[in-house]
Amino acid sequence: MSQLLAIDGGEKSVKRNFPWPIFDEQEVQVVSEVISSGKWGNPDCGDEVEKFEKEFAAFCGSKYAVSCVNGSVSLRLALIACGVKPGDEVIVPPYTFIATASTVIECNCVPVFVDIHPDTYNLDPAKIEAAITSRTKAIIPVHFGGLACDMDAILDIAKRHNLRVIEDAAHAHGAEYKGKKLGSIGDAGSFSFQSSKNLTAGEGGIVVTDDDDLYAIMNSLRNVGRIEGGQWYDHYNPGCNYRITQMQAVLLSQQLKRLPSQTEKRNKNGLYLTELFENIEGILPLVRSEEITMHCYHIYIFKYDASKFGDIPKDKFVEMLAAEGVPCFKGYPHPLYKQPLFQNKNFMCYAIPETVDYTDVICPVAEAACTTEAVWILQNGMLGEREDMEGFVDAVLKIQRAVVLKI
Ligand SMILES: *Cc1c(COP(=O)(O)O)cnc(C)c1O
Repeated sequence: MSQLLAIDGGEKSVKRNFPWPIFDEQEVQVVSEVISSGKWGNPDCGDEVEKFEKEFAAFCGSKYAVSCVNGSVSLRLALIACGVKPGDEVIVPPYTFIATASTVIECNCVPVFVDIHPDTYNLDPAKIEAAITSRTKAIIPVHFGGLACDMDAILDIAKRHNLRVIEDAAHAHGAEYKGKKLGSIGDAGSFSFQSSKNLTAGEGGIVVTDDDDLYAIMNSLRNVGRIEGGQWYDHYNPGCNYRITQMQAVLLSQQLKRLPSQTEKRNKNGLYLTELFENIEGILPLVRSEEITMHCYHIYIFKYDASKFGDIPKDKFVEMLAAEGVPCFKGYPHPLYKQPLFQNKNFMCYAIPETVDYTDVICPVAEAACTTEAVWILQNGMLGEREDMEGFVDAVLKIQRAVVLKI
């Protein structure tokens, strides 16, 4: 009887909850201090935002960091600072959150989708060059789930074609490639602090760079076009008010102190989980190469093979797994180019050439990831204990036994 699946009313394999966000009295105190000070805004009344930016830049090993309202705006700031012009093309993966591509549209540019690699679900460098044209200006590699892209290959292509590289590191706070923090490798690196992300203040974003010029432009764009040393009502660039509050800044500073140990824990758990999954037929974790010196497992992803699970579709399997108490999700329903935004070309801007058409775009690897393969275990689950990783595997085995052997 203990093998009755939780979805059918049986006992759960994993009984504990995995809370997120994680905080204690310290967070309450620092935010409360800002509230009491009455200095809530930025930049006119306090320096908590600047302090956090310095901390985050140092954490990444970057020269500068520019905070802003979210991880979509940070991408947009980076794109504009990189000098994209209306009608320019930007290479993006199709297996990512909409912001990676929609911010390109917001800049009046054309996202060009290049398929992901089946081992990593990251942009496949071998497919990038075929997509480059005379209009291509930038590549946005997404370190999906916190797994580093093949940055050497991407930077090499970018160099040969004179393209800018903007890392979308929204999933990748604290993760590394060859010992370097993700976000600090390309021309600019964009992060999100939205609620689900590994470092959060509910909302927020930041972009890091080593480039003096990019920094100056991004710093101005997020602050209504003001410049350093300029007068309050002098505006030099076409920016908006994209500033964060002092409350967000102190909360982020506090959360940043927790990030290294949390990242270590997720990394360790991820390695262990992969080891445990090795013996299960039909479960294939994404491949983590030697270059990945730190994975932050914003999402732990494995490929599900329904043929080893009595042909139950992925969505049903994920429902069963969630019922067992595993914090999991089926992921994106389809690659980005299938979204109505692209299929219907609801771009609401007139600089994108009429010839642009997404109705015949097909990226087979991304399609398979969305429809049949990809199962996500979420970062809060990856903050569990070693026994919890064993519990996740027990849950998978329990489902497999129930649907294959019917016991
Ligand atoms: C969350 C996310 C963003 C955007 O972040 P917001 O803060 O929600 O605007 C960008 N790219 C990816 C891959 C994301 O997951």
